[in-house]
Amino acid sequence: MTDLATAGRHALVIGGSMAGLLAARVLSEHYGDVTVLDRDVFPEAPDHRAGVPQSHHAHGLLPRGHEILAELFPGLLASLAQAGAFHTREGIPVLQVTPAGRLPAAPLRGQGEYLAFSRFLLEWQVRQWLREHTNVRFLPATEVTRLVGREDGTGVSGVQVRYRDGREGPEVLHADLVVEASGRTSKLGGWLQDLGYGAVPEESVTSDIGYASRFYRRPEGFPAPWHGLIINGRPPHNPRAGLILPVEDGRWHVTLGGFAGHHPPTDEAGFLAWARDLPDPGLYEAIRVAEPLTPIRGYRTPTNTWRHFERLPRWPRGLIALGDAVCHYNPIYGQGMSAAAVSAAALETSLRTGGPDFEHAFQKALARVVAAPWQVATGEDLRWPGVKLTGASAGPGLRLRHAYGNLVLGQAVRDEVVAGAFVDMIMNLRPPSVLARPAILARVLGGSLARALGGTVQDAEPALSPEVVSLLRTRPAGAPFHAPRRIT
Ligand SMILES: Cc1cc2nc3c(=O)[nH]c(=O)nc-3n(C[C@H](O)[C@H](O)[C@H](O)COP(=O)(O)OP(=O)(O)OC[C@H]3O[C@@H](n4cnc5c(N)ncnc54)[C@H](O)[C@@H]3O)c2cc1C
Repeated sequence: MTDLATAGRHALVIGGSMAGLLAARVLSEHYGDVTVLDRDVFPEAPDHRAGVPQSHHAHGLLPRGHEILAELFPGLLASLAQAGAFHTREGIPVLQVTPAGRLPAAPLRGQGEYLAFSRFLLEWQVRQWLREHTNVRFLPATEVTRLVGREDGTGVSGVQVRYRDGREGPEVLHADLVVEASGRTSKLGGWLQDLGYGAVPEESVTSDIGYASRFYRRPEGFPAPWHGLIINGRPPHNPRAGLILPVEDGRWHVTLGGFAGHHPPTDEAGFLAWARDLPDPGLYEAIRVAEPLTPIRGYRTPTNTWRHFERLPRWPRGLIALGDAVCHYNPIYGQGMSAAAVSAAALETSLRTGGPDFEHAFQKALARVVAAPWQVATGEDLRWPGVKLTGASAGPGLRLRHAYGNLVLGQAVRDEVVAGAFVDMIMNLRPPSVLARPAILARVLGGSLARALGGTVQDAEPALSPEVVSLLRTRPAGAPFHAPRRIT
């Protein structure tokens, strides 16, 4: 249904990645025309592209992201499954091994099905959906170089672009609304300063993370009780984390991540050696027997940043910003795409209720949306020696919060109620305060006290049992796995 107040008007989105596509979907219900500009040429089939280098690294979509995508793009999840996405109703979708041990498996949400896919398959499917179902058009090979201000100084009237495919330029493209979604390298801060809006306050955390990733063929009948595996780092001593995500076409997307300047290598021997020294050996044992399908790709980012556009005293009419351009978290927590989805939902609310000058109000609403994932990510990042927060204070009692977090994990690995609350928090389904609710607090403190008085500390159960590891080690290279196919 088109909104009469804005029908016939033109919205222009800078960046055709997940945040831009999700925003375009929402805008398509409110604006007569929506144009998505990207400096890249989009691939003709699901594939990586230069402007989204992170697609070489495993991307998990949190449950809230799934829900919003299903609402905004009816039939999308079924199309993903048809396109070969991994889907199952059995087994543990993704086992998480925390510093305290394995978390109990959470029941599957929604339709009771687990669906997983690569970042580039998702983006491709969403783009196709928009092409087929909406008034959104795409302008590839078009790079925005600056914002164009309104003559009366009240806001933004368009963008200046330069074409990257030989078309003549530069050119100015006009729009009633410009949406900045050009990702973590966004230049919006500088563009706003050029228009006289002042410096944008920023909060940054110096996580200095490195990733190394590759695709593997998933070994047929691999004898694990899980389909995917997350191994968390163990602060302060083991800064290595790892992820196996089952994706389309019978593949595993495997990512190794390192915190605080400890970056996984991208050569064959180094990649395996790094995996071997993860806090749990399961990922190493799994990739040792899997066939690599792609080269190893690296990615590094020194800081994660929240640009507080909502704090500018004046905000231009005709402009909003969302996605990684506003806040990019340490990717290890898998929040970016889901946060973009929640931001698109907030945009829908602002467009419906915000009135003609909804833009500044939207930036304020967005700040509330990103606050919880930012708090979760930075709170964990600050456990690592040398990692600092600039532009803000970590808040009182950080040490106490970390100490309580350790108790929560110690209880979560043996208590489904606490595990449920913890998982809801890291999945951004509930705010961090969920762990301070009296029922959870009582279980955490009671359980911790009982274990302390009991004096026995059980060894944490590994991701793969010794029987499975021995099977993997003794099996001739390339031999199929025999029944029983799953040993728990
Ligand atoms: C290593 C890594 C791993 C990640 N893992 C996860 C995960 O597991 N789960 C998750 O949810 N999120 C993850 N993320 C975050 C996720 O990739 C992003 O949050 C998500 O893609 C949304 O980003 P975005 O659309 O705002 O920006 P981006 O994806 O960065 O896209 C920006 C777009 O803007 C275009 N562009 C840039 N400048 C211009 C310009 N001047 N003119 C025109 N076009 C321009 C680019 O070509 C690109 O298409 C990860 C990120 C990284 C870096």
